[in-house]
Amino acid sequence: MGSVCGWCGRPLVAASTGRPRRWCSTRCRKAASRSPFPPVMIGRRSWCRADGKRPVTPSGAPASSTDSGTWCSFAEVRSGSAFGIMLGDGLGCYDLDHVTDDQARRFMATIREPVLYCERSVSAEGVHVFVEAPEGPGRRRIVDGVSVERYSRARFIRTTGRRFT
Ligand SMILES: [Zn+2]
Repeated sequence: MGSVCGWCGRPLVAASTGRPRRWCSTRCRKAASRSPFPPVMIGRRSWCRADGKRPVTPSGAPASSTDSGTWCSFAEVRSGSAFGIMLGDGLGCYDLDHVTDDQARRFMATIREPVLYCERSVSAEGVHVFVEAPEGPGRRRIVDGVSVERYSRARFIRTTGRRFT
């Protein structure tokens, strides 16, 4: 893992010293920095294209939240119109349903985990808050009148790139 550029997917020449590289070139690093998604998500190999809410491979075959062999790099999904990311391995998500901006911000202020990225959902009525989180069981609660689901493993979240702050 980590042997291809997170943006363009080309193989990376390993640096002889220092940290593993994420990008093959300054151009790719800059392109990634203009993306709404943070490098820590772009660099993961747990992206899938989406058919509705279902994950599919770039060739359109069903992808599975429990089979990493059906996932791919951001480079392989970003040209498509619909894609998303699998949770797990340190990536979790709060899925807020039918939420106003104010409700979403109030809820976000209560989150203890480091927040990586936040966006409006496909319907534009929901909000996804991606966080750093260890794997655990999913759960659903009502908070402040809002349905809040939290997942940290074996779950596909279709992303929009419509960043919410
Ligand atoms: Zn590159």
